[in-house]
This record gives sequence, structure tokens and C-alpha cells, in this order.
Amino acid sequence: MYRILLFGLSMFAVSAVSADTVTSPDGRLVVEVSVNGDGAPLYSVMYDGKTFLQPSSLGMVANTGDFSRGLSMSAKSGIKNVSDSYSLPGIKKSHVNYVANEQWFTFAKDSQPVFELQLRVADNDVAFRYRMLPVRDTRSAVIKDEITGFSLPEGTVTFMAPQSKPMGGFARTSPSYETPYGVDEPIGRNGWGEGYTFPCLFKNPEGGWTLISETGVDGAYCGCRLLWDDSAGSYKVGFPQEGEMNGLHSVTPGIPLPGFTPWRIITVGNSLSPIVETTAPFDVVERKYEPSRDYTYGKGTWSWIIGMDGATNFDEQLRYIDFAAAMGYNSVLVDALWDTQIGYDRVEELARYAKSKGVGLYLWYNSNGYWNDAPQGPRGIMDNAIARRREMKWMHDNGIRGIKVDFFGGDKQPMMQLYEDILADANDYGLLVIFHGCTLPRGWERMYPNYAASEAVLASENLHFSQGSCDAEAFNATIHPFVRNTVGSMDFGGSALNKYYNAANAPGGSRRVTSDVFALATAVLFQSPVQHFALAPGNMTDAPAWAIDFMKEVPTLWDETLYVDGYPGKYVILARRHGDMWYIAGVNAQKDPVTVNLPLSMFAPGQAVTVYSDDSSLNGQVKQLKIDKKQRLRISMPCNGGVLIKGNKL
Ligand code: CA
Repeated sequence: MYRILLFGLSMFAVSAVSADTVTSPDGRLVVEVSVNGDGAPLYSVMYDGKTFLQPSSLGMVANTGDFSRGLSMSAKSGIKNVSDSYSLPGIKKSHVNYVANEQWFTFAKDSQPVFELQLRVADNDVAFRYRMLPVRDTRSAVIKDEITGFSLPEGTVTFMAPQSKPMGGFARTSPSYETPYGVDEPIGRNGWGEGYTFPCLFKNPEGGWTLISETGVDGAYCGCRLLWDDSAGSYKVGFPQEGEMNGLHSVTPGIPLPGFTPWRIITVGNSLSPIVETTAPFDVVERKYEPSRDYTYGKGTWSWIIGMDGATNFDEQLRYIDFAAAMGYNSVLVDALWDTQIGYDRVEELARYAKSKGVGLYLWYNSNGYWNDAPQGPRGIMDNAIARRREMKWMHDNGIRGIKVDFFGGDKQPMMQLYEDILADANDYGLLVIFHGCTLPRGWERMYPNYAASEAVLASENLHFSQGSCDAEAFNATIHPFVRNTVGSMDFGGSALNKYYNAANAPGGSRRVTSDVFALATAVLFQSPVQHFALAPGNMTDAPAWAIDFMKEVPTLWDETLYVDGYPGKYVILARRHGDMWYIAGVNAQKDPVTVNLPLSMFAPGQAVTVYSDDSSLNGQVKQLKIDKKQRLRISMPCNGGVLIKGNKL
């Protein structure tokens, strides 16, 4: 499709513009690519005739030239249908069929081609990336600024977490994607002055939702953020902050030429379904190496969340191994300071004992290094290949299941390379990897087959640290399934059944204000193929038997995920299927109860289902209820409470 548009009154003071459109396979999502009178490439996104992104900038400023203006579209490919079918055990659905229309556009400056734009348009997802070309005799480039912009319509409201300033927080470890979300805020702000972490969610003034993120980021680029650009009146892609990694290394990425930059992904739709259900971060990336073994996912326990550092001792870890075995869980996470408080010899002994109980161990590591002051050991191992590989060999020989590496140093290119190097080495030794105090995973579930999950969220540790976090637990829980967790596995470490975050489960310190049904519901709402729940051995006797029974059986792998109802910051209800069993889970953060007649077409009319629900005092109960003739079920969730419905699929 080729047409001439007249932009007589445009801010660009342009006379004529050519535009190409790429349409989704179902015809509802339309992306238009054009070049304005200044020779600046632009794109826009429409869905069902509504504008989701107004004409927004494309282009790059590199040390090989300014490729943001003075460009012309010198060539374009035909529109090609691309499809892919893949299985991934660790994401929101076990099998994905991806279909999109793809077109390539070549942009030239002074008649020399400078980059190609690869654009893919699926039914609800736009993905594009740049292929930077050699200019004259250059074979490498430093990207000084990525011009990619996101111009949201006036009246759009935002749901985003600010990027924190560097070298702040605990032991100067920020940014680590652990800031609180703002909801229903107007566009035009810039977080705490440093923009926002991906993904970013927006509500369109005409109705509908937009999710913006990036994927396919590895050591070949830096991790990016979303910045507000006041001069352009729109958001744009931003590079890391100067101060990250203790101020060392450049914020600008380097690439070989020709070379790809990471994918920018935009998911749009009339409801939150396409956002919750998107597989865009995985659709456009490729596996970077083969798995060295079949990896074992599943549930586990960890003492640190209730017992903190002091609990990392031999006897307490033994008790948690017995607890995990009693729950039917297959792992225990041994957290920080095990190197000094337990020692390598006795960890080997723990691993042998755990194995005899059918339990595997995850060991915690500090990523440092020189990029912050986090003091916990083991340190000085994961940051260099020789020590790291020697350590991983020891883990392999002792049957360790995986590692949890904490306290990373931001998003500059060398740090992104460290994530990849840890993953690649761990695969050589058959280890699963969980990251904490870290960046957002960007397609890593598919790229690295031994990648399990990342924190990159204000996670359960904060519930222990402060009553304020406990009081806001429900509010945050209604946001994550719509934002952070939509693009990657989220290691939250929650679902506590203790009333108090201490080993005695007695008054003192933080008090949990959410219900037991809420705890069970978040075990379903928060997706990660490996879950270390914040349960304590005492819960075998001090928590309701039905709650413990559910925590024994809850899956961590899902075949399907569906949005059912909700609004970020208010309440959320999602459905996830494992095999033949559907789990519909919801939590409510609003003062007033949420009462909904839920449409549940996954069940038969008259079918009996198991329903966990709360009364107005947050006392939980379990009942068998029948789905009505119209395949609906009436549920109610009080503030800080939840609901959970379990039944065989139709
Ligand atoms: Ca953390």
C-alpha cells in the first residue's frame, strides 16, 4: 500500500510525506511507516481505527553519523507472512503459535544505506528492530542515542515504575527494578527524574491498553528504559545512567556492523487480555544455546524470608529440607552467607541429605565485583569466568540444582554481558539460574534454556522489611499480573501463611494484612516456573489444612493463561490451566468488596468446582459450588482478600 499524505499544518512544516502500512494477519492492527519533510522516519500504531501511537520517531545517532534526519526510504521488501510454533515450559503458556506480517525498510543518507528497519505486525503485537549497516569503511559503531519514540495520545494514563537513581539504596545497589508503581497517572512525567523501567502500561483515552517493552537484549547492547522527552512531547528509549556500575563503563552500547539492535515491542488491544496473554517477548527471539540437560522446575522453600540472615545455618537448612520434603516440594534455596555460616563441606552434606529426600538445593551468590557495596558472601565468584566455572563444577559434582545471583550493577552493556555469561556457564554445568537485585529479563526464557526467573520487582523481602509494604501488598499484587509479570517470569518469593514475618510467628515486626486465600491466589497469579514460597515449617500446624493442601498441589508450570477481569491497582482475576485443571485466581485491593458474576466458559454448565473464598473478616473457607447454566459463577472478594476456583476443564 502506498499513498501520499498531506501534512500542511504539521509541526514538522512538511509538504508531502510518503507512508507505507503493514497490517496484522487479522487486519485490525495497522502500523504506518513514513518519512517526514526533514527526512526523519516515523511510525504510528492504530488498532480498530483508534490511534494507539501517534507518529513517533525512528532512527539512531551513532558515532558513524546522525541517522535520525536527512534520511530517505531507499528500498523496501515485500510484505511477508512469518510464522513460528514453539514450546517453552517456563512462561505463561506451554505452546505458542506465532503469526505476523513482516516488512523491511531501508533508510539512506546521502544515497548511502545506513540502516534497515525490520517490522513485524502480529494481531496484537508490534515488534521492530534496526539493522545498522556499515558506513564507508566502518565495521563497528557506538550508538550514541536511540531516537525510537512512543508518542501516546493526549489523555493517555500510565501505570509505570520509576527508574531509581544509580548507586543508592541498600549498599549502593540501585537501580534494581524495585520501585513502587504509580497508577492512573497522566503522561508527561519522567518518574523520579530518570524515567521508567520496562514494561510500561498505558490506558488509551478512547479505551484500550498499550504495553511497551523491549526484548532480545543480551551482551550485544545495553538494557534500556523509557524516558520522557519534553522537547518532543513524547516518551523515548533511554540508555542506562552514567552512575551505574559505580560510574564505570559507558552508557552507550557498541555494535559490530552490520549489526542488530534489540527489539522494541508494543502490545495493544481493546481490553487487558492481549496484555496479560502476550508472548511478544518470546516470539521474536531465538534460543542462543541448547540445554545441556532436562531442567527440573517446581516449588521450594527458603528460610531467609522469615528467618533472615541468621537462619542460614546448618540446622535450620536441615529443618527446611525436611519441610520441603513434607510439602512434596523439590527444592530449598540456601540464601546469603552460607559460605561462612555453613561452609562448603557442610553444604555438600546438606546437598546429600536433601537428595535423599528428593530435594535439590539452590545456592545464593553475590554478583560482585566492583559495582556496589553489597557485603554478603559468597562474593568475587560470579563476576569472573575462572572462579565462576570452578565453582559451578563443584556445584555440578555435588548435585546442586541451581543458583540465585543477587546485587547486579545496572543495565550497561558489560553488565548485560555478565548476565549472559553466568547463564551460558551455568548451562555447561547443568544449573538453573535465578537473578535477584537485577534487571528485567528480556526474552531470556527462550534465549537461555536454563534461565528460570528474575526478581526485578518490589518483592516479598519488602513485606518482611516494612509494615507499609504489607499494608500495600494487595495494591501491588493487582498491578504485577498486568505489568511486570506479563513480559517475564517473576521471582517474588511470596505466599506467606505466617501472620507475622518472624520465626515465632508472634506479634513483632511486619504483620500480614492479607488473607490466606489471598496467599494461595498469588501463588497462581505470580508466574515463575520455579517458586520459593515464603512458607515456614510451623505452617504445617498453624495454617489451615486446606491452605497447606493447596500450596502442596499448586503448579508452577502453565499450559494456558487468560485474563478474566480486573484493573491495575484495584483488583485482578486471571485463569491459568495446568493439564486438565483450571485455576482461576483473584485478589482485591479496594476498600469495597468486589462482587462479580464471572463468565467461566472453561467450565460446563452445572459443573461442580472447588471455591476458596473469604468472608468479610478475611476468614477463608473451601466449598464445592456449581457453575450456572450460563457458565457463570458469582464470587466476592473483600479488601485484602481473594478467591480461587479450581475445576477440570470442559
Ligand atoms: Ca531484592
